[in-house]
Amino acid sequence: LAIEAACRAFDDHSWQGAPITAAKAATNPAQPVCNPADPSDIVGHVIWADAATVELAGKAAGRWDAPAEERSKVLNAAADLLEANYGEIFALLHREAGKTLLDAVAELREAVDFLRYYAARSDGAPARGVFACISPWNFPLAIFIGQVAAALAAGNGVLAKPAEQTPLIASRAVHWLHAAGVPEHALQLLPGAGEVGAAITANPAVQGVAFTGSTQTAQIIHKSIARHLDPGTPFIAETGGLNAMIVDSTALPEQAVQAIVESAFQSAGQRCSALRCLYVQDDIAEDFLEMLTGAMDALVMGDPRQIETDLGPVVDAEAKAGIVAHIEAAQAQGRVVKTYPTPDRGFFVAPTLIKIDGIADLEQEIFGPVLHVATFRSQDLDAVIDAINATGYGLTFGLMTRIDDRVQHVTERVQAGNLYVNRNQIGAIVGSQPFGGEGLSGTGPKAGGPLYLDRFRAHAAKE
Ligand code: ADP
Repeated sequence: LAIEAACRAFDDHSWQGAPITAAKAATNPAQPVCNPADPSDIVGHVIWADAATVELAGKAAGRWDAPAEERSKVLNAAADLLEANYGEIFALLHREAGKTLLDAVAELREAVDFLRYYAARSDGAPARGVFACISPWNFPLAIFIGQVAAALAAGNGVLAKPAEQTPLIASRAVHWLHAAGVPEHALQLLPGAGEVGAAITANPAVQGVAFTGSTQTAQIIHKSIARHLDPGTPFIAETGGLNAMIVDSTALPEQAVQAIVESAFQSAGQRCSALRCLYVQDDIAEDFLEMLTGAMDALVMGDPRQIETDLGPVVDAEAKAGIVAHIEAAQAQGRVVKTYPTPDRGFFVAPTLIKIDGIADLEQEIFGPVLHVATFRSQDLDAVIDAINATGYGLTFGLMTRIDDRVQHVTERVQAGNLYVNRNQIGAIVGSQPFGGEGLSGTGPKAGGPLYLDRFRAHAAKE
C-alpha cells in the first residue's frame, strides 16, 4: 500500500534531468521522455549533451582521490539514499521503463547490492583515471549503478551515459550519488543517444570503457577504442544472448512450465538473460506445449502499475516494430503456435510462441516476449548442445532433468556464463552468483563478482 501511494504521489510529478556535468554546458532543447505504456504521458524532460558538452566534461573529469574508506562510506550512503527513496524510484521505473512492481523491487535491490558490494571492496589500489560508463534501458538503475559504483569504488572518475530511453532514473541516481558525497568532477552524466556515447568513448580523458548493450554496439566501441586508445585500455562489455533451455522427458512438467514462462516473458523478455530457444524432448512435446500455452493464457498484459500485471510494454515504438515484424514473418510461414491481441495504446507486444527446427534458425536476439521452441530426440542431445554452442553467444543456459549424470554431462559441455538447473533462468546474486557471458555475449569478468573491480584498477593493466 505504501508503494502504491508513493507511485500515485508521483503521477503528477514531472522530472527534469539536465546533463549533470561539472561544466554544465549544454544549451540544447529539452527532450521529452515518454511512458512506454502510454506514450501520451510525458514523464519528464532531459537536456541531451552535445559534442561541446562532452569535451568540457572530459576536461573537468578526474579521478576520485579520496581515501578508500571515505569512498566506501560515500557509496554506502548512496545505497541508503536509494533505499530511502524507493517510492520515487518505483514510480520512475514504472513510468519511464515500463517495469512491473516485481521487476522494480528486484531492480532497486540489485542496485543497492552493487553499491554495498563494491563499497566493501574499495581499497588503496591506484585507479586508472576516468571511465566511460555506457548503459542500456532494460535495467536503467541496476546496470547504470553497477558500472558507476565499480568505477568509483576503484577511485576512478566517471563520464556516464544512460540509454536515451531512460535518462531520468539515471539523473536521479547521479543526484543521490552526489548528495552522498561523490564529487561532481568524479561523476558527470551526459544524456543522449549513440553519438554522445561515441563522443565519450573517443574523448582523450577516457582510460577505460564499461559497456552494456547490444553485441553490435560493443563491436563498434571496441573498434573505436582500438583506434583512439592504447591497446591496454580495458573494455568491459556485457552484451546479448541467444539463450537456450533443454527440457527432457524426466523433467517435472509443472515446475518446467512455470520456470519457462518466467524466463521468457518476465520483463516482457527484455533481459539479456531471457530464454529465447526452448528444446523439448519429442516424446513429451505435445502435452508439454499444451501445458505451456495454457500457462501463457493466464499471463496478464497491461499497465505495469497494476499489481496483477505480469507483462508491461516493451521500451519504445522501434523495439515494438522490430519484434512485431519477427512475429509476422513467422506467422506468414505458419510457425506461430500462440500469440494474443494487444492494446491499441502503448508499446505492448503479446507473449508469443514460435516453432522452429533448431537454434540455428535464429539469426539474432529478439529482445521481447517471444519464445522459440524446437523438439529433439534423446540420441541427439549432444548435437543440440553443439548447435547452442555454435551460435557464438554464451550467456545463460537452462536444463530441466531428473537424471543426475545428464546434469553433469550437459553443463560440462555447454558454453555459457550462467547455468540454471531445474529452476528459472533468471537472475544473479551480487557477490555469490555474479552475472556475465562469453563469446559474443561479453568480455567478462562477471559483474558483481570478485574479479570485476580489478579491471577498473591500474595494477591490473597488464593482464
Ligand atoms: P540496445 O539494443 O540495448 O538499445 P545499444 O547497444 O543500441 O543497445 O545501446 C546501449 C547503449 O549504447 C545506449 O546507451 C546507447 O545510446 C549506446 N550507444 C549506441 N551506439 C553507441 C556508440 N556508437 N558508441 C557509444 N555508445 C553507443
